[in-house]
Amino acid sequence: MPELPEVETVTNALRPHLINKSIRTIAASDKKLRFPLDISQCRIPDDCRITDVKRRAKYILIELENLTIFVMHLGMSGNIRIENSKFIRKNHDHFFIHLKNGTSMIFNDPRRFGSIRLFTIDKPNQLPIFLNGLPPEPLSNTFDENYFSTLLKFRTKSIKSILMDSKLVTGVGNIYACEALFRANINPQKSGAKLSKKQRNKLLKAIKKVLIDSIESGGTTISDFRKVDGTEGMYSLKLNVYGREQQPCINECGSTIKRIKMGGRSTYHCPICQKS
Ligand SMILES: [Zn+2]
Repeated sequence: MPELPEVETVTNALRPHLINKSIRTIAASDKKLRFPLDISQCRIPDDCRITDVKRRAKYILIELENLTIFVMHLGMSGNIRIENSKFIRKNHDHFFIHLKNGTSMIFNDPRRFGSIRLFTIDKPNQLPIFLNGLPPEPLSNTFDENYFSTLLKFRTKSIKSILMDSKLVTGVGNIYACEALFRANINPQKSGAKLSKKQRNKLLKAIKKVLIDSIESGGTTISDFRKVDGTEGMYSLKLNVYGREQQPCINECGSTIKRIKMGGRSTYHCPICQKS
């Protein structure tokens, strides 16, 4: 499932194709995504420009000059591509923004857990109300030692499940939680409240580092994720524990990577390097 680095990769790639470009028309297939989308409700004036493309949590926001905002979520298998005017429609193409310059942005989603929603905002740069109250961005300055300490202090469930709870931490998900915990030498089953200050700070740095490294590699492709140009994210080649069951630990500690189930999800870790 696309997490923060994958969504950031897609958002960054879309910007030069969309910002300041005028919309010719929008269209949608008759298949329902996660939420119904009625584009007849969306009246886009002639020459309406796209003024901004940004990410918040795992949402991609496309803001128009008339204060309409498209909020897209890639779900499990959503991908977005840019095509020129001669493109051939593919199976599972569900939403189209056709631009006056002849190019089109196309949202494709075989499993249809993704979504596209339309909102109107009151002033530029405003977020739709449903995005208020999300946890801070892990790469922002707000996600700091103080925030992390308050977050973990009284939470007795496992640190890994805390990192994966999107109400508490946004966009980390299973792969990056495993990788950050390995990098910080922390046992994924340890209670969040029991982490020492040193461990907390090491983990905080590890989360940011893993997310930044992945963004620089264009995200991680395990099965479905594709970048806007159709290629795979290369962070898959840099994973230290995720998907490496029974392979030797990269720290040469003598152990192999183990896989356990936590909350129904495969959790990869090194029993030697992540003892405490
Ligand atoms: Zn090890």
